[in-house]
Amino acid sequence: MNYQEIIDKHQHFFNTHATKEIPFRIKELKRLKNILKKNETLLYDAIYKDFKKSEFETYITELSIIYHEIDLALVKVSKWAKKKKASTGLANLPGKSYILPEPYGTVLVIGAWNYPYQLSLCPAIAAIAAGCTVVLKPSEVPSRTSAVMAELINKNFDPHFFKVVEGGVKETTELLDIKFDKIFFTGSVPVGKIVYQAAAKHLTPVTLELGGKSPAIITKDVNIDMTAKRLVWAKFLNAGQTCIAPDYVLVESSIKDKMLSSIKEHIEKSEYHVDNDNYTQIINEKNFDRLRNMINTDKVYVGGKVNKEERVIPPTVMKDVEFSDDVMQDEIFGPILPILTFDTVEEAIDKVKQLSKPLSCYVFTKSKPTRKKILNEISFGGGAINDAMMHFTEQTLPFGGVGNSGIGNYHGKYGFETFSHYKSILQKPFWIEPNFKYPPYSTRKLNFLKRFIGL
Ligand code: NAD
Repeated sequence: MNYQEIIDKHQHFFNTHATKEIPFRIKELKRLKNILKKNETLLYDAIYKDFKKSEFETYITELSIIYHEIDLALVKVSKWAKKKKASTGLANLPGKSYILPEPYGTVLVIGAWNYPYQLSLCPAIAAIAAGCTVVLKPSEVPSRTSAVMAELINKNFDPHFFKVVEGGVKETTELLDIKFDKIFFTGSVPVGKIVYQAAAKHLTPVTLELGGKSPAIITKDVNIDMTAKRLVWAKFLNAGQTCIAPDYVLVESSIKDKMLSSIKEHIEKSEYHVDNDNYTQIINEKNFDRLRNMINTDKVYVGGKVNKEERVIPPTVMKDVEFSDDVMQDEIFGPILPILTFDTVEEAIDKVKQLSKPLSCYVFTKSKPTRKKILNEISFGGGAINDAMMHFTEQTLPFGGVGNSGIGNYHGKYGFETFSHYKSILQKPFWIEPNFKYPPYSTRKLNFLKRFIGL
């Protein structure tokens, strides 16, 4: 496939200004929703073949999120795209100032495999709402979901406006050679660096949605049962293959044993078995082997018995884990939960800060000073107090990382902003032009400027 030709056509289509019309954006967003709704069975089938993921989990973690993003954009896009008034200083009166959101132009969205639909389509929705054209390159790892997105989108959209290009490293590398007006990437830190370097050659702005080790910090005053229940759900949903899953737990030493037994109880209650469709497979053999090697059988408290044939790793909890253990060296991205302990909040904060800035941080505590201290002293993308992962579902919150966990954010109006340039305009009438800034310069003029104009 000649990618340059595709991008040239996107550039040409963008230059017709069709995408700048709000009715056009609304029509295309509605088209996307209709196509997805009509083809839900195909979407469920593809994800089942790739992950053995249930319809229930696919709906709550993929389709419902996509539909919400479309619905919000349909209601708000006119408002988001409106000119925004700004105040004007004395030096420029009688003029007026305003900000015009304009679409960046041609956009490349590169998706990750773990939630293949929403991680590809939510950025595309935001780009369409902002008035851009989109080339979407979904992850090749879940091949059926990539194929079904290509089929549905390429059949139903003008290819000069919205086009899916399938492929892996080779295809993405070729796409990254071409100049886009914006690149939105979701994936790992090492590939994020490759994308950033490729974008730098063209000075293309990027959003990088990356990963890292997201901690859950639990103090001794919590409701143990509720904490364990929420943690177990967040950690083992999608078999832990979630960028914002709690990667590891730091629990105050005095409640460690109670916390462990409550986590065990909730894992048992949750019935996470592939044979009853509550649980998900590990995506491929490479990840299965990577995860299996992280399990230190001497430290396993729950689970640990893996099934290579079915690519299933049961919910696995490891206790007495140290920061020097293998499982603490990289993002886990699977159903293994290491439990570490701390004695003071300062110690917990220091431990988290030994690692890169996480994408998420979860703080379970009833203490306001502890909560404030942790929020003040640890830098991370976003998170929750006394819960895990649910902040992702709030469209009013920007979603993204900081430092190694990413650059930029999206969701709701933040997605629109991510794909927009905000053009600043000062507009003046012709009928007056004071002489203060013009030569000949004089002390009198300078004093006047200093006192009244603030220049
Ligand atoms: P990945 O970096 O391997 O792949 C992401 C995309 O990059 C895929 O489309 C892939 O085809 C492409 N790619 C892979 N290698 C490439 C290369 N050498 N050159 C160019 N393109 C390349 O990531 P993944 O395995 O799909 O996802 C797992 C990672 O993504 C985890 O670190 C996870 O935390 C992170 N993640 C982050 C978010 C988020 O929203 N912040 C969401 C999901 C996953």
